[in-house]
Amino acid sequence: LCLEEIEIKSIIESVFKLIKIRPEFGNIDLRIEDMTNGVKVQGDRDQLKQAFMNIIINACEAMENSKEKTLTVVINATENKIKIIIRDTGCGIKPEYLNKIFTPFFTTKKMGKGTGLGLAITYGIIKMHRGDITVKSKPNEGAEFEIILPIKQNYM
Ligand code: ADP
Ligand code: MG
Repeated sequence: LCLEEIEIKSIIESVFKLIKIRPEFGNIDLRIEDMTNGVKVQGDRDQLKQAFMNIIINACEAMENSKEKTLTVVINATENKIKIIIRDTGCGIKPEYLNKIFTPFFTTKKMGKGTGLGLAITYGIIKMHRGDITVKSKPNEGAEFEIILPIKQNYM
């Protein structure tokens, strides 16, 4: 783990850049609401970028057949933590899958479309940063991921 002081907003913006150049995601409305006033976290930039990339790509893929295609990232800071919410207006996740999606190789995508590794990798990266990730979703109403990251990595 290579620690730097990072503004989460800059990571989300770099992920959005990569999304925008993919033609299949061209009609998605990408939004950031950053309420942190520039608060930074200690973390590994490349790994955190990978972690958010995996969530955001899933969100974009989930909106393929949606009328409304909005992906919203909300970033909030408290005294010692940053909370990131990633919300989409996609197909949502069945209740019986909610506790499986972070398991390696769990996928609902067609053969060759998904490896089922993205969220397992994300989970590992967030845990390595002593953070937490949870999900809420209702089928047909989209999904919402919440990530909590400590601002300081005291134990590394
Ligand atoms: P993959 O994308 O290769 O299937 P992931 O680990 O990235 O693997 O995701 C696992 C599964 O979680 C997906 O196959 C999908 O069923 C579900 N999932 C993840 N994010 C979303 C989302 N935003 N909306 C709907 N389903 C999701
Ligand atoms: Mg994925």
